[in-house]
Amino acid sequence: MQNDPRHDPYRQIAYAAAHADEFSAAIAGADIVPLLMSYVQLTGDTSLLDEAAPHIKGAWNYMQTIPTTLQNRIRAALVQAVLDFAERPRELPAEPAAGDFKKMIDVAVGETVPPEYVQVFREEMLIAGRDARTFSWRKRPAETTLAAFKVMIVGAGFSGLAMAVRLQEAGIPYVIVEKNAEVGGTWLENNYPDCGVDTPCHFFSYSFEPNPDWTRYFAKRDEILGYILHCAKKYDVRRHIRFQEEVTAAEYQADGTWAVRTRRADGTEANETVNVLVTAVGALNRPAIPRIPGLKDFKGPWFHTAQWDSKVPIKGRNVAMIGTGASGMQTGPAIAPQVGKLTIFQRSPHWAMKHPLYHQEVSTGARWAMRNVPYYASWYRLTLFWAASEAFHWTLKIDPAWPHPKRSLNAMNEKWREDLTAYIMSKVGHRKDLLPKVIPDYPPFGKRMLRDNNWYDMLLRDNVELVAAHVERVEADAVVADGKRYPADVIVLATGFQTKRMLSPMHIVGAAGRSIRELWGDEDPRAHRGVTVPGFPNFYVIYGPNTNLAHGGSAIFQTECQVNYIMKALREQLESGWDAVEVRQEAFQQFNDRVDGMLANMVWTHPGVTNWYKNSAGRIALNWPGRLVDYRDVTAEFDPAEYHLTRTPQSDTRAVARKVSSGAP
Ligand code: NAP
Repeated sequence: MQNDPRHDPYRQIAYAAAHADEFSAAIAGADIVPLLMSYVQLTGDTSLLDEAAPHIKGAWNYMQTIPTTLQNRIRAALVQAVLDFAERPRELPAEPAAGDFKKMIDVAVGETVPPEYVQVFREEMLIAGRDARTFSWRKRPAETTLAAFKVMIVGAGFSGLAMAVRLQEAGIPYVIVEKNAEVGGTWLENNYPDCGVDTPCHFFSYSFEPNPDWTRYFAKRDEILGYILHCAKKYDVRRHIRFQEEVTAAEYQADGTWAVRTRRADGTEANETVNVLVTAVGALNRPAIPRIPGLKDFKGPWFHTAQWDSKVPIKGRNVAMIGTGASGMQTGPAIAPQVGKLTIFQRSPHWAMKHPLYHQEVSTGARWAMRNVPYYASWYRLTLFWAASEAFHWTLKIDPAWPHPKRSLNAMNEKWREDLTAYIMSKVGHRKDLLPKVIPDYPPFGKRMLRDNNWYDMLLRDNVELVAAHVERVEADAVVADGKRYPADVIVLATGFQTKRMLSPMHIVGAAGRSIRELWGDEDPRAHRGVTVPGFPNFYVIYGPNTNLAHGGSAIFQTECQVNYIMKALREQLESGWDAVEVRQEAFQQFNDRVDGMLANMVWTHPGVTNWYKNSAGRIALNWPGRLVDYRDVTAEFDPAEYHLTRTPQSDTRAVARKVSSGAP
């Protein structure tokens, strides 16, 4: 990952200079703010920055009004600077001077960001093609120690692959056990019509593997899966993956190892011993199939969005879709033009916002710039980091003095409500029958905010009916809601995932013979820093409790934070020769108290809101309450004082090593 030639500014300069006409033409269609930052970083000249600053009002690319004449000067200056560097090659500064860097960030996002962002942006941006998160040993263990050690990762989705990449970098042996026949996890499994991401994908990608070729700002499933396949190949992870094998159980052993049981697709089972178990199974992995009476007796096909059956014809048929979350928002508008009738059953409406870039393709100029203009892609990613999360995180906090606590949280949240309502009115305001069904009564952001995928336009179609009523039962050929029968040939369940029964159905048993289910129950998972669990030594969870981002941001950022933390824990273990690393109860408790305290005034706890983050006791078990930069801080370092670090009494390292390498239970 270090010094990847694709992001090497020297290579980019040479290429751009050698293709000067192409360069000028391409940047005419690229975003002006990252171009400006490229120029400033290349030259150290901040004069144009000062001129442009008053015209940049926010971090999305449509929030700038830089006059055309100034834009032309910026583009010309950049071309000149690149040509000049190519003509008189010299050393580029590794990154902008400290004061300039902060100033550039502030200008790029259109506001003054707190100083703690400088470090996180340095890590995120691949400044000068350098991966700031590259793993390094303090004192590299002997090769024999490394060779005798083994990590098992469960799952080859985004998280499992990120973990694998870093383990590989460190030279730590690992295996990935993946239940599917291919990598990709949720992005492999979810293949419903129009499935895609609603996080801008130049940010929803690994920091160490920017993709200059995204064709859309919000990519669809096939392109995302293509990116994951590319990463698995490029980082040579595939040979470590055992496909079509599922971890069914894992039990911690007194010698510090895990005895893992797996089941292959052909039904055969195997046992294996590893030193460390890392689960990377995601939270959106096991479909939630609602217990609707009669569903099993429905005579037509029915399936969950995550198990879309493309062999089932839907053209001209009566399709009933239950659920109106992110998956339904994408599926419904995609299938409505094909089906005979689409009846949508909505339990509670979601807020959905229009995003100017949601349906847009990335221009060829911008793609050229991502690939060939030094620093452009990094600065573009940085603006997204801000725009898609940190810029508005503060607006999700409940103001105790706010006089309208039922409908909004604070003045800014009320403004969101007004704007979103006006948008809905602009779409369906003339349909008095629809309006009361589609305007939520809870504050914006209480459930995950959706991007309008032509949902409201879809509702206006003659062949679409929105039923805002409780689904009572399913009959052989119909769905019954509030006493009325709605004929159906096919039922689509867009009903989400079993998010709170985390790590289910794996049976994971810790040090004292206690299972993770006994500890967490069905809906109250907790972990230290979202990653480690007392009583479960040498065990790490990625996308664990209280790590989900519900307001925005990128799940991949969170994953990279967790991987970084786990790598530092492994470094401590391997450099010091510990057999067992187990979080202390007090540290775990303190962290969870802090998280619960932070959550107490966040929008998801609002009593009027139901969402997939909250358990029946009202506790938010899934979400990280803070900003992304806060989670980065929580996971930046591994503090040995928070852990029991032990050598087991029977610590004959060679015996354990033999056991691990033979795979004996
Ligand atoms: P979801 O947000 O949990 O939505 C499930 C929907 O099913 C909700 O409308 C829910 O109603 C409804 N529902 C559940 N059980 C029901 C029942 N028994 N009767 C009637 N309605 C029922 O699930 P999702 O749409 O699959 O999305 C889950 C998460 O996946 C998202 O929040 C997002 O993080 C991710 N995702 C992202 C994208 C994207 O990036 N575009 C796409 C898909 C998924 P209530 O709201 O009333 O509970």
